[in-house]
Amino acid sequence: MEIQYVIINFLILVLILVIAGRKTVKRIFGTRRERVIRELDEALEIQSRPFPEFSEPVPEISEDFPEEIIGERTAAEKKLAAIYAFQEREQREIHRLMTEKTKSELMKSFSLGVKELFSKEPYYSKIREKEERIVDSILSQIKLTPGDMAYLKHHDVLYVTLMSAFPLDEKLVEKVDNATKELLATVNGKTSLWVREDPEFIGGLRLRIGDTVYDGTVSEELYHFGRRLNREPLTSDDTVKEITEDFLKTAKNFQPAINVYQLGRVLTVSDGICWMDGLADIMYGEVIEFERGERGMILDIQPDRIGCVIFGEFEHIESGTKVRRIGRIASVPVGNALLGRVVNAIGNPIDGEGHLFTNERRPIEVSAPAILDRAPVNSPLLTGIKAIDAMVPIGKGQRELIIGDRQTGKTAIAIDTIINQKGKNTVCIYVAIGQKESLISEIKETLENHGAMEYTTIISAPASESAALQYIAPFSGTAMAEYFMYEGKDVLIVYDDLSKHAVAYRELSLLLHRPSGREAYPGDIFYLHSRLLERSAHLSDKLGGGSLTALPIIETLAGDISAYIPTNVISITDGQIFLDSELFHEGQRPAINVGLSVSRVGGSAQYKLMKQVSSSLRTNLAQYRELQDFTQFGTDIDDVTKRTLDSGKRLMATLKQGRYQPLDSWKQSLILFAVSENLTGEADLEEKDYENGLFGFFIKEKKELTDILIKGDRLSDETKEAVREAVKEYTGRC
Ligand code: ATP
Ligand code: MG
Repeated sequence: MEIQYVIINFLILVLILVIAGRKTVKRIFGTRRERVIRELDEALEIQSRPFPEFSEPVPEISEDFPEEIIGERTAAEKKLAAIYAFQEREQREIHRLMTEKTKSELMKSFSLGVKELFSKEPYYSKIREKEERIVDSILSQIKLTPGDMAYLKHHDVLYVTLMSAFPLDEKLVEKVDNATKELLATVNGKTSLWVREDPEFIGGLRLRIGDTVYDGTVSEELYHFGRRLNREPLTSDDTVKEITEDFLKTAKNFQPAINVYQLGRVLTVSDGICWMDGLADIMYGEVIEFERGERGMILDIQPDRIGCVIFGEFEHIESGTKVRRIGRIASVPVGNALLGRVVNAIGNPIDGEGHLFTNERRPIEVSAPAILDRAPVNSPLLTGIKAIDAMVPIGKGQRELIIGDRQTGKTAIAIDTIINQKGKNTVCIYVAIGQKESLISEIKETLENHGAMEYTTIISAPASESAALQYIAPFSGTAMAEYFMYEGKDVLIVYDDLSKHAVAYRELSLLLHRPSGREAYPGDIFYLHSRLLERSAHLSDKLGGGSLTALPIIETLAGDISAYIPTNVISITDGQIFLDSELFHEGQRPAINVGLSVSRVGGSAQYKLMKQVSSSLRTNLAQYRELQDFTQFGTDIDDVTKRTLDSGKRLMATLKQGRYQPLDSWKQSLILFAVSENLTGEADLEEKDYENGLFGFFIKEKKELTDILIKGDRLSDETKEAVREAVKEYTGRC
């Protein structure tokens, strides 16, 4: 009985649970299901939504609109233009992805097609008939390389492998055996011949002596076809058709051209560093290619193994992966096509704006111009920043270091200098090493907004990239810059920053098991930076008179300029702009510490006018800083001290300058003249109203004087007096 009750109770409980709980369960899962469905619908809708169309015409601006409204409209217009540009970029990116996909798909279907072609008559017999010719052609080319000779010093036998797509005629094998034996007999060595078949070759055959391969196979032709395809932009379907038809024709009439190259094999890979053997005659700095097309650069050659860095992804590389020499040292594309672009350290565009239309390349490492190829530094590279152009002037062809703690405005100075080159016929290269990607895109946007991107190239090796790419980025940037320099142009290159470059090189060196030296940096770090910066130069007229000015940036820790890397780079460069974090936090921006900043050659390149007005600035400022420290605690100050302090304060206020506000040289000279001659009265120099008004006054009302100032020559006493009077007149009006 009791059991019956228990069962009935249990059933009632289950019934209640089912009736009451169903609703809750349904509610919980129901709402979730609804949400998922809603989200799916939304996602689908976004996918199918076309690019927003801007059918509305851009509003016309009428002349008689009040100024604020015109301002607003232009901002709206700008936004619209930015959206248009963005759309275009998006579409180009999609186009790029599509062509790349078609390229790899083309290659795949191609290989299959060609394989099928050669398995059928008449092509099968045709290619088999050619085998003897291929053998003859290979045998006429074989020779021993210096690498083989070195190998034979320690071993008696050199391995020779003959590989073909189909089983070979015995006579042919014998011919090869005799020929290689003969070759080795000349140096008292022996051979050991292996014969192998591999259908992957599709047709033809290949001979490997030591590490050198003489390749007369169809698959080798396909490999070269793939490389050509990758190089050429597929601008339209016609190009695709043209290239493929072209190849098919060659494939059908296959005339084996013997390609000679050397092979190696990966031993170990870790952290972007790869050790290999083989590649007998490899050279330092040479580029090698792995099976799937990844590239690397040789950085270490030892008797039994070769070390290289891998550019980019390396997850498909493992021990046993084949490596081949491609017969060139590391180089990057150069030319006008690079202006306005963002590229990575190996020169591949990463801004989604499509193919780089240039065929020219330059090696990333070349020796610097010799002494006789150089001319003295004699013309100024204007930064537009008062404190620099007046007190630490930079000349074209000079190397001026920007050094300071983190967040002291180092990058800001470099970017302002690039912006100031607008209309000055100077090409700018900005190399970002180990920076955040967001910062790099911000810089690109800033440069675009100031119209500076059209003469600038950004080389981006952000912190997220491998140490290898960060290591070669400044060298690549310099190669791109040198192209313009040897064309006779003026070039400015910014390395932002070399401290991170040193860290990347340290990482590589430690991974390559090189002994570490001071502060764990490898011993050759000084040589690394000096050979990089030595490439900046002002070329002699015979070489076109171009120049390459370098602004390397170094980050210090707690203002310690006597650390290893800062001292190295200070001693390599021709001067430094020292940024002081204390000044920066006091609100003095740019926070240039005049006492510690110097330019060793720039003075001879300064405009005469600027030299005249700024000659006493340095000493005045030094005096001011000293007195300021001294009088900090006392209140009794005599008149002379007070005057020095006041004029120092005015000077410091004048030297404050916001970002993106570069000033023309004559304007800088004028305001510095006014301040140093104490003509500014009670004006607040920190607010730039006084100085902007002064420039306007000169342009409008003192045209003749302005023209003289613009010339930049030294002022005669008379003109000086006239300028003095004019400034006084303006001050009187304020
Ligand atoms: P990091 O060490 O992170 O590379 P940095 O030394 O390159 O920093 P910046 O990024 O150039 O410094 O500048 C730091 C901050 O100071 C930025 O927010 C920048 O806007 C501001 N700044 C730099 N120069 C000026 C200036 N002249 N006027 C006003 N603000 C400035
Ligand atoms: Mg910076």
